[in-house]
Amino acid sequence: MHSDDQAFARLMETRMAEIRATDILPEELVTLVEQVLPVQMKARDEAKVKLPDEASCATAEAMFAGSPLIMREHFPHDVDQALGLFPVLLEILAGTGGAAAQAAQTLKKAIAAGELDPAEALRALPAGDDAIFAAWRQRLPESPRALNFLAASALWPGLNAAALALAPRVPENLPHERGHCPLCGSLPYITFLRQKEGLRFGVCSFCGHEHRIRRLCCPYCDEADTSKLKLFRVEEYPGVAVGVCETCSMYVKTLDYRELDKTMLPSLDDMATVALDVLAQGQGYKRPTLSAWGF
Ligand SMILES: [Zn+2]
Ligand SMILES: [Zn+2]
Repeated sequence: MHSDDQAFARLMETRMAEIRATDILPEELVTLVEQVLPVQMKARDEAKVKLPDEASCATAEAMFAGSPLIMREHFPHDVDQALGLFPVLLEILAGTGGAAAQAAQTLKKAIAAGELDPAEALRALPAGDDAIFAAWRQRLPESPRALNFLAASALWPGLNAAALALAPRVPENLPHERGHCPLCGSLPYITFLRQKEGLRFGVCSFCGHEHRIRRLCCPYCDEADTSKLKLFRVEEYPGVAVGVCETCSMYVKTLDYRELDKTMLPSLDDMATVALDVLAQGQGYKRPTLSAWGF
């Protein structure tokens, strides 16, 4: 094993132990993510993405006016890789046990019978077309997001490889007044602070790009009036704050990586702090985005 792989494996082990210790998420879900993340990281390194030429991207002027570099339905990714990953992820899902495994069997049968075309799901997700996913959420009431998970997880390596390659095209002096991703226009699923001065970043729920946002603002409706924004913390989760917005009734978690003193893995830290989602939702606040895993 490559030494980077070993370091990553150790990192995963610690993080998964933390997630299990919170004792909130079902073991099947934890096992699933534990197996899927290394597959995705490897796939991201191998993804082949064709970047659009600058003429087909938004101009700097348009970006300053709030337009993303590329609309998400046109965002580059590795279609062939996603098609190849789909059955691999489906096998992992089938091996997790419980309702998710049953859902995987139903999906497998549907693919074999020609009732479900993975390519269609992989096209529908970037296009924001929810029809196919809605139909399967209905057919799989015990594990409604199984197809969302498969499509989002299969597409992520290519999307994120593209995001990494496109990041240098974001104008350096672009203001941080908007919460959406400057590359694809999607909303962040979590935000974090880093560096001594506590710069705040959003993590895009679609392409995974990490972009600067204002320290005090709602990344969903861009409210910056501090009388409308509240932060709360819970003693058991040091270094994590929940920001709620009275204007749009949304909330977002902020991970303070200066306090957390650990390698950033926002998609796992989002899972490890799911108790705070339960708390915020119990107070009537909503989360407009899914986890990085599509559930
Ligand atoms: Zn994005
Ligand atoms: Zn808001």
